[in-house]
Amino acid sequence: MAISAPETYAVTVFLVIALGIFTRKLTLRVRYLFAGQGAVRRWDHIPTRVKNFVVYGIFQRKVAREWYAGVLHSFIFWAFVILGASVVEITAQAYEPGWRVALPAIAGVPLNGPLYLAQDAIALLAAFGVGMALYRRYVIRPKKLMHEGMRDATIVLCFILGIVVSLLFYNAAAIAGGTASLPGWKPLSAAIADGVMVRLDPAVWWHVFWWTHVVLLFSFLAYVPYSKHMHIVFAIVNTFFMDLTPKGALKKVDLEKSEGFGVNRVEQLSWRQLLDGYACTECGRCTDACPANATGKPLDPMRIITNIRDTLNDQGRAIVQGHVEGLPDMFQTVHSEEGIWACTTCYACVYECPVMNEHVPKIIEMRRNMVLTQGKMPSETVGAMRNIEQNYNPWGIGWDQRGKWADGLGVKTMAEIVASGEPIEVLYWVGCAASFDDRNRKVAQAFARILRRAGVRFAILGPEEKCTGDPARRLGNEYLAQTMIIANVETLNRYGVTRIVASCPHCFNAIRNEYPDFGGTYEVVHHSQFLEELLRAGRLKPTKEVLQFLTYHDACYLGRYNDIYEEPRDVLYRIPGVRVVEMRQCRDKGFCCGAGGARMWMAEPVGEKVSHRRLSHVEETRANAVATACPYCLIMLDDAAKTKNREDIRRFDIAELLERSLS
Ligand code: SF4
Ligand code: SF4
Repeated sequence: MAISAPETYAVTVFLVIALGIFTRKLTLRVRYLFAGQGAVRRWDHIPTRVKNFVVYGIFQRKVAREWYAGVLHSFIFWAFVILGASVVEITAQAYEPGWRVALPAIAGVPLNGPLYLAQDAIALLAAFGVGMALYRRYVIRPKKLMHEGMRDATIVLCFILGIVVSLLFYNAAAIAGGTASLPGWKPLSAAIADGVMVRLDPAVWWHVFWWTHVVLLFSFLAYVPYSKHMHIVFAIVNTFFMDLTPKGALKKVDLEKSEGFGVNRVEQLSWRQLLDGYACTECGRCTDACPANATGKPLDPMRIITNIRDTLNDQGRAIVQGHVEGLPDMFQTVHSEEGIWACTTCYACVYECPVMNEHVPKIIEMRRNMVLTQGKMPSETVGAMRNIEQNYNPWGIGWDQRGKWADGLGVKTMAEIVASGEPIEVLYWVGCAASFDDRNRKVAQAFARILRRAGVRFAILGPEEKCTGDPARRLGNEYLAQTMIIANVETLNRYGVTRIVASCPHCFNAIRNEYPDFGGTYEVVHHSQFLEELLRAGRLKPTKEVLQFLTYHDACYLGRYNDIYEEPRDVLYRIPGVRVVEMRQCRDKGFCCGAGGARMWMAEPVGEKVSHRRLSHVEETRANAVATACPYCLIMLDDAAKTKNREDIRRFDIAELLERSLS
């Protein structure tokens, strides 16, 4: 059984055309990527990058967060890898009949045998995986996959099915015709040969399946660059170049050197940010996890990524030629302003993305452009920003009132501590919410009393503390944020502060992850960590029963951003009488309260309130209380319970519950 000379000629022409289309498109994409002007540094920490490449790129750990998708995807992915050698072998039949990939032998067993066995098995599994994928798309029909990418995905799945089935039948025909190499290592193909080929002319069917296989293979090669399945190439590259800086740290803007702020054109993004678009698999996990999208806001994180890709494809030629004037900007082609403002920066989209796409930094860059370049921001936020400017807190209460919550508690300020020469163990960073919001002042008071009871030597900054800059920064007002950050770093460094405990996850995240860029490097712990530390050390002994059946709400800036899930739970578990039940969406799948990303200061006129949706998750558990470790979450859940007429569900900070259990 051999390929004739005209067939060789025909297949060569076909191969050259397919390769030409693939290479041309790939080169064009890479050219467009490098038209990105944004700065990015992704060649550092090579060993970590290699590890991430293996874990997330090769073994696709994040894909497996959904078991069904993980199983089917791994069957298909490993088919691509393992069948690579068979593709070469089959194509080579056009030029060198009977040519085989020659692998060495180990202990007398040629490795070609195990390779053929693996190919037989993975071809079957890939066909099964395609069946699972089609079942999911056409029978289960999850909402996240019901978009216009369905047609493309179906075409690709049919290509894959055709390729693996034609391979098995080609091998079967070769076995039936007696020309197969090591047929004993191809049990599935041999079974097909025995069951089907005996009634057919193997030479004819060998030709039919050879042609079917190569036509499908080369057509697939030519089709892929026109589809989202270019992610086959780019997704794996994306994992190598993933962001290795702390998850909660936004990139610092050089306000002196920057000519424009933020981005409103795709070429202003970096090549790595543009690469996200080509890496996207359109799996919809980001949008599925988005609390804004889930509650009806016009925000679709997947669209941000795919629209950046489509805009780059549409405008790429003009961009590389430098003819960008008059082209529509990102607010027209990528996402609406309303959608960009709707983001709570909860990080769920980034966390769920299996190919390490980074949605939040792009949203912040678009906000920076609106605020700093176009002078636009939601009208409701104007007052909060002015309050930060004038009184260093978004509540707008006089800055000199910041330490008022501590009246009568015997809490000293750093200025008093320095004057008295006493040493301190830790600085308590109170934050604006606990300083100015009535409900959260009670939390600060409870925490301060606990610290005193545990004999912790601590101090506060009092009126010298300013907003950490988190709300301004997440709103896109980098200028105001940096003003606050620089002032705070100057104060902390002046007092020689080394250890800070913060009860607000937003303050905790900002000081821990963002202040080092501004010369402020401290050991920063969250109050849940600090309380757990005191409990473990035996400095706190909860003995009184607190009879509460409650659920714990994970704050995004504590959980997803800083991986603190266990400590607050551990504090609750140690309180006698407290019973904890988990919500359906908890830990790294936790659902935002709706306050992050400066959303606390914005109106929410469209859709269901995010906090109401979260309260409905609490209601599902039938718990009669919800505990959290974040003042923003407490405000949002408090508000939701009141407006939904569910005040019977009580709202606590973990410190308040712990204090009750201390005799
Ligand atoms: S950060 Fe949260 S709210 Fe913003 S787009 Fe991502 S999932 Fe949606
Ligand atoms: S951005 Fe990531 S999570 Fe979202 S659709 Fe693309 S691959 Fe999936």
